[in-house]
Amino acid sequence: MYAQVIVDIAHSQVDRVFEYSCPESVKVGCRVKVPFGGRIIDGFVIKITETCSVSADKVKPINSVFDELPALVPECFSLMERISSRYRVPKAASLRLFVPSEMRLGKVREAYKNFVLLKDADLKLIKSAKRQAEAIAYLSENGECELSVLAEKFGRNAVAALEKKGAVAIEKRRIMRTPEMGGAKEEPKILTAAQKEAIASIENSDKCVQLIHGVTGSGKTEIYLNVIADQIKKGKTAIFLVPEISLTPQMLSQLRARFKGEAAILHSGLSAGERFDEWWRLRSGEAKIAIGARSAVFAPLENLGAIIIDEEHDSSYVSESSPRYSTLDIARWRAEYNGCKLILGSATPSVESFLKAEKGEYNLITLPERINKKPLPEIIIADMRREVKRGNNSAFSLALREELDSTLKSGNQAIIFLNRRGYSQTVICRDCGYVAKCENCDVTLTYHSEDNCLKCHYCGARYKMLEACPECGGRHVRYSGTGTQRVVAELKELFPAAEILRMDNDTVSGKDGHYKILSAFSRHKADILVGTQMIAKGHDFPSVTLVGILDADMSLHFSDYRSGERTFQLITQVSGRSGRAGQKGKVVLQTYSPENYILRYAINYDYYGFFKNEISVRMATSFPPFSLICRVMVTSDSDALAVEALRGVYCSVEELRSRSPEKFLFLNRMHSPIKRLQGKYRYQVLMRLTDFELVSAIYDIAVANTTSDVLCYVEENPANLS
Ligand code: ADP
Ligand code: ZN
Repeated sequence: MYAQVIVDIAHSQVDRVFEYSCPESVKVGCRVKVPFGGRIIDGFVIKITETCSVSADKVKPINSVFDELPALVPECFSLMERISSRYRVPKAASLRLFVPSEMRLGKVREAYKNFVLLKDADLKLIKSAKRQAEAIAYLSENGECELSVLAEKFGRNAVAALEKKGAVAIEKRRIMRTPEMGGAKEEPKILTAAQKEAIASIENSDKCVQLIHGVTGSGKTEIYLNVIADQIKKGKTAIFLVPEISLTPQMLSQLRARFKGEAAILHSGLSAGERFDEWWRLRSGEAKIAIGARSAVFAPLENLGAIIIDEEHDSSYVSESSPRYSTLDIARWRAEYNGCKLILGSATPSVESFLKAEKGEYNLITLPERINKKPLPEIIIADMRREVKRGNNSAFSLALREELDSTLKSGNQAIIFLNRRGYSQTVICRDCGYVAKCENCDVTLTYHSEDNCLKCHYCGARYKMLEACPECGGRHVRYSGTGTQRVVAELKELFPAAEILRMDNDTVSGKDGHYKILSAFSRHKADILVGTQMIAKGHDFPSVTLVGILDADMSLHFSDYRSGERTFQLITQVSGRSGRAGQKGKVVLQTYSPENYILRYAINYDYYGFFKNEISVRMATSFPPFSLICRVMVTSDSDALAVEALRGVYCSVEELRSRSPEKFLFLNRMHSPIKRLQGKYRYQVLMRLTDFELVSAIYDIAVANTTSDVLCYVEENPANLS
């Protein structure tokens, strides 16, 4: 027999199949060790054949086989082809996605324990062997026992003596390291009419992709869980994806209570051993539901019955390292392969997804009301320009202070939200709300302190930093924003009796750092939680009745064509944290541009109005989804080599453009806004394309210009252009 092997070297030069002879026990999907170029390296068997294309005496044998059960399910090979061709990565790089990294590097192995089994309970023992007799009595009463436990109780010698006499047998067995998921309490819910309708609509739809647009608290999670349970009943499996940050202990214990051992969790908070075992539980068929963040889309499940992506608009669903895949793409391919449904859910779908639903490509399911018709919180706008005029220079408007006061007095909790992302990059006039924008692109400019100027990230244009506001002449022009630390300090002064928790990148340490803070807050260990994006979604805190959004503008004016969309999403998500249980919630939204249409739609929870407006703006300006923004990044330790590669990339793209200029709305090469990062020089070729097919040619160009010293890679509609 011969095995076709992909060697685990992600390099284009060895990106093909190599042949080895192998014993019959080797199966497709096994990981093997093979001799390669004088070394022994890992590989994946992708095919077994009777014959071999080279002469038999030249073929080397496989060195060894890793797994009895092949690590790769058959579907991997079809996905490998699609991923490698779509994102132009070697096949080995695609296959790596399917195997946990700790397993690939051989760092983690199965865990075993020894168990003692009773063989002969009637063994005659001499009188003095008291402890041996006790051990036998213990085993006949309690059944088999872990060796270490038995040895602890009756002594190692006694157990060894019994084994020698054949009274007991010691057996080495694989054990599973299962992550702790907290105490489980879960009452089965009777589905509402809306939930039943949604489930029926999914079942009866002939479309692959289902988009559930349901306001926060409309019971989407319950729908997902029912769909999963139905599929499990039918003997199928399921994948349930959420943003990493939503994998809260709350959610995990809810899932554990519902699905017990049938669910396996894959997330970064697990130990390597736990992740390894959870993965094997899925692969072996013991667990049937994979729950996790982005990478769980590669879960080793066969016979998928449903794939669910919650908060489908979340930017964490795009991989930040090679291959820069979109989780929605992979999920859709898997759904097509398995003939199952892909269910996307969000209170604020991405405009791209919603457009597809409107055009009929996706089945749209709408849940306009919260469970029990609980009202959505009222959103009050606080005009910060007026606060400045009043002489209030603090981070808190009068309205927010008053609301905080009454919330604390009534014994409820509040969340104060700050936007870290736009922090100190946007230039805003604190008198009139004017924001500096690019004349060519109509996107917000970003302040760059290193050369004290304003830059447009979409066309590279530079502008002088403003001394005064061009609209009103005011001198309060700032690239401002307030840090969490300052906010906490101010809060302490305003409300000395209140307990305050802070959650941002500085306070969250360790793998479960943010769980600890959230769980303390949900147990009411504090009155106010101050935080950034991290607190925006997924959490259910029953006694939160007030949410303060300090700087809604910061994301509104972030220099990204999606900033309007992001702002709408953020306000909706953050507001959704308020008034989830019995009491009505409130939201105070502070802004310098209260008349902005995005905010207007957001405070009225008018997603559809927002969508209509946003999509017409995108169409008018030819931004995605009506075009594709493509950036080829060129990075290197050497400035000269980077510049040379940049020239190469640009020339090739320029050649493409000369053949079909109508396909390019924009093309330029430039320094990246951040010129140097982690010692690497950064350049880019930025383009806006009308023809989506062109992207594969761009990938080819990036691959062709990559050398051992210069890395070139493609980003599609990057979330961040810095
Ligand atoms: P979403 O995911 O849409 O934000 P959730 O699924 O978190 O909403 O549901 C919001 C709240 O409603 C949760 O506390 C949930 O336990 C509760 N809930 C969901 N479905 C039902 C139901 N059928 N009956 C009673 N309570 C429900
Ligand atoms: Zn511009």
